[in-house]
Amino acid sequence: MKLSLKFSAFFFVFFGCSDPYTKELIDVQQSAMPVLIRNVNVFNGKDSTLLRGQDVLLERNRIKRIAKNLDFDRTEYEVIDGSDHTLIPGLIDAHVHLSGSGAVPWSIVRANMEYNLSAYLFAGITTVYDLGGIASHIEKLSKKVETGEVVGPSVYHTHIPITVKNAHPVPLTQEMLPWPLKSFVNVLSPLLGDVKEIPEEIERYVDRELDYVKIICDQIPPGSPEITYEQLEVAISAAHSLGYKVFVHVGSPENAVMAVSAGADVLAHGVWRGALLPRQADLIASSKVPIIYTLSGFSNVHRIYNGRYAPSNLDTMLVPSEILSPVTGQDGLRVREQNVMNEFFKDVSSKNDFLRSNFQMLMERGATIIVGTDSSLPGTYAGSTYLQELKMLSEFGLSNYQILNGATYLSSRLFLTSPDFGYIAEGMRADLLMLRGNPLEDLNAIADPTFIIKNGQIVNRLVER
Ligand SMILES: [Zn+2]
Repeated sequence: MKLSLKFSAFFFVFFGCSDPYTKELIDVQQSAMPVLIRNVNVFNGKDSTLLRGQDVLLERNRIKRIAKNLDFDRTEYEVIDGSDHTLIPGLIDAHVHLSGSGAVPWSIVRANMEYNLSAYLFAGITTVYDLGGIASHIEKLSKKVETGEVVGPSVYHTHIPITVKNAHPVPLTQEMLPWPLKSFVNVLSPLLGDVKEIPEEIERYVDRELDYVKIICDQIPPGSPEITYEQLEVAISAAHSLGYKVFVHVGSPENAVMAVSAGADVLAHGVWRGALLPRQADLIASSKVPIIYTLSGFSNVHRIYNGRYAPSNLDTMLVPSEILSPVTGQDGLRVREQNVMNEFFKDVSSKNDFLRSNFQMLMERGATIIVGTDSSLPGTYAGSTYLQELKMLSEFGLSNYQILNGATYLSSRLFLTSPDFGYIAEGMRADLLMLRGNPLEDLNAIADPTFIIKNGQIVNRLVER
């Protein structure tokens, strides 16, 4: 097991001959002086009303003071004028895969995890939750961000999702990875079998550095094996007894009902594989289990399958053309020549209408919606897809306040009880966006932040947007 992990790590790093990631996206401004933002309106992530005309003092990587008209000596601070701007907590993408490039099997491009991180931060995302990758690789990256060796969002993560034999993500990942990586998918995937052995299996799973557990409850491709209720319930309660929250990947209404009944803490996708019945929607919403809907991920799959995918300006800026071109317009129809991927894309596409109707049923019943993209799926990329997700949530009926609350404060509490991010208050980590105008009135304010601040440092964007 150890050997094959190392072997696969080798290929993850060295696969591919040409490097499409030549662009440098960001760097940080090293400033010895504390930063003072003057006269700015504050959306703290939690409350629906803005705090008007605040002075916000940052010291090292923390928010030190928030008050009106702070007394200060200009020579001691780097002063930023916040007039006509809104300060919001740095955004969280609650569903990412840092070790994916988003490339398709007919044009393989290896992933560059550090590049992915810089793309998130470029787009104002200061925290990401990785929902499936090799824990040791991601942990290494997470530490590099923590020590400042790499500039990027803070990274929280799980390991390769827990599943059952021949179930998602095994078939799809096998098809999407280049040889010889595909041969390791089966070996590396944690597979549950006999219920009696599950608690021990979960203990082994969390015996790595990880922040939460992820379990699959879905059929990709349709008709493939699925975890049983008993397996899921035993696995979740084993994880809980070891102090871990559990994210469950779901597809159908039955999956979602099963997951919340079995004790899931978070649903890693919305319900899309069928139409929710009112009683199912009642049960899911009243469980209060937050849902990371990933609308953009599904919608982009639908577009690629129909030859209608078109990258946004930000995609073109941040994603190498070697990744974008093969899915753009008619070129995307090549997905129909694939096997598992074709079945999955076809399934998502034929059920695209359920996405909106199910979402609205859950929203009307007060379900908690969290912002996440599922980057990097083909069509859905690090950083550049986030605004699309926000706009889809808005178009589907959430208020801007609900969206931004689910992108910051609520998201920061999915698995941590007292996080130091996702909320603007004294003592919190200084992960902030300063936006022209007011995002509670217009989400487009997020498209081009005047300042992105990560760990108290001002992030420079090196590519013109
Ligand atoms: Zn995912």
